[in-house]
Amino acid sequence: MSRPTQPSALWEKVHHSREQMAAAAKSAGRPPEEIMLCAVVKGRTSQEIFSSAGPGIDCFGENRAQELMVHGREDAYGDKPVHFIGHLQTNKVRQVVGKVALIQSVNSLRLLSAINMEAHRQGIIQNILLEPNIGDVDSKMGIPLAEFWPLLEQANQAEHICLQGLMAIPPAFDNSDQSRRYFAQTRRLFEQAQTRCKAQVNFTILSMGMSGSFIAAILEGANLVRIGTGIYGQRPEAQRTR
Ligand SMILES: *Cc1c(COP(=O)(O)O)cnc(C)c1O
Repeated sequence: MSRPTQPSALWEKVHHSREQMAAAAKSAGRPPEEIMLCAVVKGRTSQEIFSSAGPGIDCFGENRAQELMVHGREDAYGDKPVHFIGHLQTNKVRQVVGKVALIQSVNSLRLLSAINMEAHRQGIIQNILLEPNIGDVDSKMGIPLAEFWPLLEQANQAEHICLQGLMAIPPAFDNSDQSRRYFAQTRRLFEQAQTRCKAQVNFTILSMGMSGSFIAAILEGANLVRIGTGIYGQRPEAQRTR
């Protein structure tokens, strides 16, 4: 991978997102530095990722194990950590555990157990977030709320897992007031979960908000936002969904 010799056009995009994030933080009365930016790179080339890897990006977000492997092999991330944010199948767990700083999208007991076992095998502790199905959208992605508390208990007991917070993808709305309701609901769940978490000092991350909704998410307490198209532009059609 050729090193960028000067700030790329993507740095400008990142900077612009950062400014919007800071403005939202300010109007919520929060310090801008407390909010992290995860640049979502699904469907992007290693060159694109590498040339974006400048100031302002805290971590990269990958949706697919396959892309994580390719981008990792091609050294696309520079010195930035990578998070896994997509739907993770249990048969892909080996390709992800130990390779990413955080798995944000843990959405079932089966997946939690598979991650714990693989982390045990590698002799490591894997950091994770739980992904509740906020708004009970018709989605296979999040944990149904009825199963959320039992799963939190299991995460507490898993020896090779460090539970660090929640990630949410609320239903998409054109109207940001509606998104805000769901973000607020997620924040309340986050606060309740913190009190029931074994290692409360580690439970600090609330990942919510994407290109079209991160301002509303920050106003409701997000401290990690995931921005893809806002930095890299529209994805090819096939890459648009998770
Ligand atoms: C694609 C994706 C994003 C980013 O979406 P944009 O609208 O491109 O900003 C964020 N989170 C997850 C889980 C995603 O799959």
